[in-house]
Amino acid sequence: MQRRALPLILLALLLAACVNVGAPNDSLDAVARDYVRTQLAIGVKEDGYIDAYYGPADLQADGKAIAAAEGLPQLAARVSQLRARIGPLHQSEPRRAAFLDAQLNAAATRLQMLQGEKLPFAEEAQGLFGVRPQLKPLSAYDPVLARIDALVPGEDALPDRVEAFQNRFTVGRKELEDVFRNAIAACRTATLRHITLPPTERFNLAFVHDKSWSGYNYYLGDYQSRIEINTDLPIRINRAIDLGCHEGYPGHHALNVLLEERLVRGRGWVEFSVYPLYSPQSLIAEGSANFGIDLAFPPARKLRYEMAVLYPLAKLPTQDAERYDQLLLALRDLQGARMTIAQMFLDGQIGEEEAVRLTQKYQLFSEARARQSVNFTKQYRSYVINYGLGRDMVAADVESAGAAEEARWRRMEQLLSEPTLPSDLKAR
Ligand SMILES: [Zn+2]
Repeated sequence: MQRRALPLILLALLLAACVNVGAPNDSLDAVARDYVRTQLAIGVKEDGYIDAYYGPADLQADGKAIAAAEGLPQLAARVSQLRARIGPLHQSEPRRAAFLDAQLNAAATRLQMLQGEKLPFAEEAQGLFGVRPQLKPLSAYDPVLARIDALVPGEDALPDRVEAFQNRFTVGRKELEDVFRNAIAACRTATLRHITLPPTERFNLAFVHDKSWSGYNYYLGDYQSRIEINTDLPIRINRAIDLGCHEGYPGHHALNVLLEERLVRGRGWVEFSVYPLYSPQSLIAEGSANFGIDLAFPPARKLRYEMAVLYPLAKLPTQDAERYDQLLLALRDLQGARMTIAQMFLDGQIGEEEAVRLTQKYQLFSEARARQSVNFTKQYRSYVINYGLGRDMVAADVESAGAAEEARWRRMEQLLSEPTLPSDLKAR
């Protein structure tokens, strides 16, 4: 380690000297390579900051060298310099430049946070993901609770009733793999009907535990992903299509495959080979992954497929499948409450136990699920906006393409394969 320190510092100085704002021979390609180096250097400072990287190994080595020689303030200065270089280059490729600039704005925000700055929830969300969430008070969700109360009648407290009803749809451990493989294959078929993916794209499926999320896609590059499903809590049958579309097709795996094929390989835009988690790219990724479920499996089609294929595979009776489906649709209307609770908790207005209690009440979760949800908020903070708000924003945009299914898929394909920012999405 000691022996390598000096050459690393020299390399970092050399790299710093290459940062030449406004130089006549500067280009977005050069900025993009420095962008990748800088993002990878921040990734050395924070575990989990880089969600995926499959670009050139020399940029990764450069990133490590920079991180070894520089602290967070120097990295923040690098980010500012990169943004200054983009300004004069904007005209050449406006969307590419705007994307790089927005991603760098997020990196600047994250570096502020890593240096101990505490931002209010909405400001943090705006800085990292490019959207300021409009939060409703929790009382706005009381009418939804009343609707759900009527769907699942009984004497016990509503969260307990909803939990008990849903537990009847738990897939046994033995059946889980078969159910998920079939569901992901169905999501893939539905997506390939409208979007062409490279023939070598593949994913591996693994069941894991001790995580704060329910599923995760690790994109490995070369059109390959590893999809992990968390088995800490019982998995219900509806999650198969949800996770299959969200993590797989047309969600994270398909998005990453398209970015690699069309931007990284097709146009030589190396910046798309790195995916920093705390960036506007995540709002597009989570929003398109969540809306992708509805696009590939509109509710009626989803229920038909589940009843015909997945229920028999899971050895579950179908008699209450329709009522379960209605409950799931109603529960979706509570999604916004998750952001409100996260804001109250992260801004210090309520403590952890109150956050768990409110999550039980307004997400209708068991205590164990509520704790998993609050743990996620503790780990990923304002990232929670990307799911509900991201979904609604992508849905509004794709639905504005028209009622025809094909028109909606065409728009979805654009969002997934172009340098899309939250500000590119059309409001309904
Ligand atoms: Zn996701």
